[in-house]
Amino acid sequence: MTPIEIITLPDRKLRLVSDPVERIDDDVRRFADQMLATMYEAPGIGLAAIQVGVPRRIIVLDVAQREDETAERDPVVMINPEILTFSDETVVREEGCLSIPEYYAEVERPAELRVRFLDRDGKPREIEATGVLATCVQHEVDHLNGKLFIDYLSKLKRDMVIKKFAKQAKLSPKSAVL
Ligand SMILES: [Zn+2]
Repeated sequence: MTPIEIITLPDRKLRLVSDPVERIDDDVRRFADQMLATMYEAPGIGLAAIQVGVPRRIIVLDVAQREDETAERDPVVMINPEILTFSDETVVREEGCLSIPEYYAEVERPAELRVRFLDRDGKPREIEATGVLATCVQHEVDHLNGKLFIDYLSKLKRDMVIKKFAKQAKLSPKSAVL
């Protein structure tokens, strides 16, 4: 399975609101598997379809090895995920994003949540997410709404990150040949 190229800041597609998936067929399943391969290769613990330039409400996650390095892989595909409820309790965790490489910052979010989604086979599922999974689901669902984790930082910090990536894009040989 070939990984797909991940788009990074300042790509404006990252700000798009993704559309729901209407029908889960083999094409959608193949794409979800490609997203998982891309996420593992990166490596990362979560990826939203828009991060490979596709504005569809699909996210993939695997936090198993984040909590225990020796654990087996536990890939999760969530199609049209919808967060139903959040806990009042919050937690602060350091986050990063494959679309904002090598930048990490602390973000405060609800500690637990309940999420409804369709799985890879199109079956409706509802789970209680806690720990790293809860943070990861919120981060990825934000992507589907065009939101990035840097939006939770102060304007000053956010502007600094955006500026840095805009400058890098200008200097990179890839864009120089355009
Ligand atoms: Zn991200």
